[in-house]
Amino acid sequence: MRVAQLGSGTPEIAIVAGVHGDEPCGVRAIERLLDEQPTVSRPVKLLVANEKALKRQVRFVDEDLNRAFPGDPDAETHEGQLANELVSELGDCLTFSMHSTQSHADPFAIVNEVNETATTVCPQLPVVAMVETSEFAEGRLFSTVETIEVECGLQGSETAAQNADRLTRAFLTAVGALPGDTVRRDLPVFRLTDVIPKKRAEKYEVFVENFTEVPAGDPFVAADGAEQIAEEAFYPVLMSSNGYRNVFGYSAEKIDVLSPPTTVD
Ligand SMILES: [Zn+2]
Repeated sequence: MRVAQLGSGTPEIAIVAGVHGDEPCGVRAIERLLDEQPTVSRPVKLLVANEKALKRQVRFVDEDLNRAFPGDPDAETHEGQLANELVSELGDCLTFSMHSTQSHADPFAIVNEVNETATTVCPQLPVVAMVETSEFAEGRLFSTVETIEVECGLQGSETAAQNADRLTRAFLTAVGALPGDTVRRDLPVFRLTDVIPKKRAEKYEVFVENFTEVPAGDPFVAADGAEQIAEEAFYPVLMSSNGYRNVFGYSAEKIDVLSPPTTVD
């Protein structure tokens, strides 16, 4: 694990990249911060988590780090031990963790719970949606440390790396570490309701767009031509044909749209 810091003092905010070794976008954002060394009003801890997996360009070495929290110093897996080290490094820091995906090109935020931090910070980020994982958070970083995760774009794309950079700067501005103003936007909020299982097959298809409502009765995915039909209307989230091994993604409900505060003269 690589640990660095901008500014002096004890950081209360942290930026994490490389939880998954095949998602290099966030690492580039951190390297750029280290190159440029911007003046910060609050110290910021910078962490590149799974260097071993990044070097091999694989998601993980032994197990998925983002399902291994809180981890254990005596764990038998690389990621089990790393999870524990990462939690010790992060302490009470508000953490911003960058990922990329095979499901959706536009950046979106993922939180454990729609709390005050989430509703304050996320509308100031260049994201199209905020997703609350609720009971699907087990083993993820934010089950242990207060974390805003962002999906920066499509895995391995140049756009995802550029988005990671913009997202990091917006986050650091929103929490007062970098100067300037953020742009506030309407932000739809989704809550995960179920997993969409994926049976072993040769060919997987996804017929729907993430964050766009699927009406009841519509087919939405297929495995070797066998379609799954929506029993009721839902919003697909993190849905992709080959992103995960056992699931296509998640179904979600839209629970809110956060609007920017209106200024009254
Ligand atoms: Zn990831």
